[in-house]
Amino acid sequence: MLAVVIGVVLALLYCLVLKPLGQFTRFVTGKQGENSLAQRENLADVPDSLLQRRDEFGTLARHAQRLISQQREQSKMLLDLSHHDPLTGLANRRLFDASLQQSLSDEPEKPTSVLMLDIDHFKPYNDRYGHPEGDRCLASVAECMEQTVKPHGFLVARTGGEEFSVLMPETGLEQARTCAEEIRKAIAGLQLPHADSPVSDVVTVSVGVASSVNVDNVSGSTLMRSADLALYEAKDQGRNRVACFGEDAANIFG
Ligand code: GH3
Ligand code: MG
Ligand code: MG
Repeated sequence: MLAVVIGVVLALLYCLVLKPLGQFTRFVTGKQGENSLAQRENLADVPDSLLQRRDEFGTLARHAQRLISQQREQSKMLLDLSHHDPLTGLANRRLFDASLQQSLSDEPEKPTSVLMLDIDHFKPYNDRYGHPEGDRCLASVAECMEQTVKPHGFLVARTGGEEFSVLMPETGLEQARTCAEEIRKAIAGLQLPHADSPVSDVVTVSVGVASSVNVDNVSGSTLMRSADLALYEAKDQGRNRVACFGEDAANIFG
């Protein structure tokens, strides 16, 4: 009789305390021990068997689940902040570089093109209209670029003070040049007055284009360097224009 009572007590102890405690311990010491931002975003959910309990373990489990959801949202927000430029809302250099790397390694047999765009004579713009107006100009240019490339699904990033880049996966040089010209025209079409520009009476941009098909030993950095050389060429030729690496600009890698 005593043995039966002890057995029942032990069984109850196991079901009510030891089993859920073991589940909780495994849960907490498992994936939850990982600490990086990305890992925290992937926090595992508390097992249903714990969440559905009607005792103190259930209360604790549901509370833990709420904390996990909050932590996920915060991690996502931080990750988002670390990938975007606060002034324009565009992707920043970090996200652009990672996306470019991915595009090149995911489908190396397909062409990847990039644009590098720089506002012409932006220093005199700031000097004449003031820094806050300069900021508004940057935001307008960013918005215009986004709208222009939206149908193509390309990534636009602010990669420097008044410099922007566009990532064009699965896109060859001619298509990239056409899109660059579209962007250049769209920005000039905003008709943002720039009284101190020697190039035009409105804000204009110069654009450098490079495509992986024209670049030897292609990597993210050689492609961007090529686009930068083409951009210099566009500036040299008088600004407010598009230049392509390997055609309008000398191929220093060739
Ligand atoms: P170029 O035609 O050769 O490109 O000449 P530029 O005057 O545009 O180029 P420069 O590099 O001399 O000047 C860039 C200016 O961009 C200077 C800097 O004050 C301005 N700038 C950079 N970041 C910001 C920003 O976040 N806000 C504002 N308002 N201005 C910025
Ligand atoms: Mg610049
Ligand atoms: Mg400039």
